[in-house]
Amino acid sequence: MPRDKSIRSGWRCDSCGRLVPDLQAGWVEWLAAEDSRGKPKVSNLRLVHRRNTSARSPEPYGCRYNPRDEFRKNRGIVEGLALDRFAGPDGLMLLLSMIAERELPLQELIELAKRVQIPGYEAAYELVHEAVSEGVIAPCISSGFYLQCEIWDVLKWAKCRTSAKTSHVEHQNRCVVSH
Ligand SMILES: [Zn+2]
Repeated sequence: MPRDKSIRSGWRCDSCGRLVPDLQAGWVEWLAAEDSRGKPKVSNLRLVHRRNTSARSPEPYGCRYNPRDEFRKNRGIVEGLALDRFAGPDGLMLLLSMIAERELPLQELIELAKRVQIPGYEAAYELVHEAVSEGVIAPCISSGFYLQCEIWDVLKWAKCRTSAKTSHVEHQNRCVVSH
């Protein structure tokens, strides 16, 4: 559970960039195709909105891959699962089995595992690069792999920075992140 309710939860849709607010609203999909030598190639893993969020959108599949377009482009077959299948211990087991089987590029699977399984990772993701360069955190494990205390330090720092823009300097001082 997030320690601070004001911290953004949910995920950023890899297609439209808007918020996927909860597990039920999310979908994970990828493309299965053949490479130039006819070998099977599965890639382009992404987390998107499950349903078409705008009823007036001309795109019938909303944020999801359009199966007809993908087949026409690269003879790609669209595959996917609901986001909630990747959550919790069963979701972690599913992710680990996909990693073990190398069903998709490892980097894409590992990133998805972090986004779904690690609290605060998605919210901190876009801020971490700047937080590291500003000295807010120095990742203990390695770049891209953050401890919970590091994630919360980044989120706290970002929140104070935002409120400091509209508030007094004293407030900013009170918010200085302590390790
Ligand atoms: Zn979307």
